[in-house]
Amino acid sequence: MVRIAYCSLKKSFFLTALSVVAFSGLLKAQEPSPELTEVYSPVPPVVTPGKTNSDAPSDAIILFDGKDLDQWRSVKDTTMPAKWDVGKGILTVSKTTGNIETKQSFMDYQLHIEWRIPSNITGEGQARGNSGVFLASTGPGDDGYEMQVLDNYNNKTYTNGQASAIYKQGVPLANACKKPGEWQSYDIVWTAPRFNDDGSLKSPARVTAFHNGVLVQNNFELRGGTVYRGQPSYKKHGACPIKLQAHGDKSEPISYRNIWVRPL
Ligand code: MG
Repeated sequence: MVRIAYCSLKKSFFLTALSVVAFSGLLKAQEPSPELTEVYSPVPPVVTPGKTNSDAPSDAIILFDGKDLDQWRSVKDTTMPAKWDVGKGILTVSKTTGNIETKQSFMDYQLHIEWRIPSNITGEGQARGNSGVFLASTGPGDDGYEMQVLDNYNNKTYTNGQASAIYKQGVPLANACKKPGEWQSYDIVWTAPRFNDDGSLKSPARVTAFHNGVLVQNNFELRGGTVYRGQPSYKKHGACPIKLQAHGDKSEPISYRNIWVRPL
């Protein structure tokens, strides 16, 4: 009797073990091969980064290298050269000659630009080192989409008009301003708006930006051009120049350097 019971126990253990092995084998057979989700094309192009985050990567278009304004023109008269002051490797706003813009037009891009508020800056509110980076210059004057440049190290103004705001639309996620006299950077990813043939909006402009390495705009969706008065709206356009603002305030002019762009 004992022997029979032992044999049937052994048999049922063997059958159970067999079914576990068979079941796990079945499970394995049903698991997709990891190779099915591995992609080998397209291959990303090789881009050699700069030594520091200020340096242009190997595929960037250099918009200002400290030497001249060959890549820029006057906005007032686009047949005329840009006449801001270049010296000691930097570019300083000339308020009397007005806004300047790139000769080349762009759609979507990554932009690096550095700016410095002079250490002897005076004024307050919007009249303290005001300039601006227009991410697309859609016409004369201040037409386009402005990321504000302003001294807000210790200077209050409306928050949708402070440094790194999308002017009167996007309050920055942080105030990352450095002291006047120190160089600061913007790293901006711009997605241009798209339009239908009838002029209606297909998809709005979007911007992601870092101010001195701090995220200040996170895939922010614009409601149209940035305007001083009234509500923003869109007007159909294609690729546009990048524009820098010569603001009419009376404070000391600010400077720019290391400007490069990577069309996307
Ligand atoms: Mg401005």
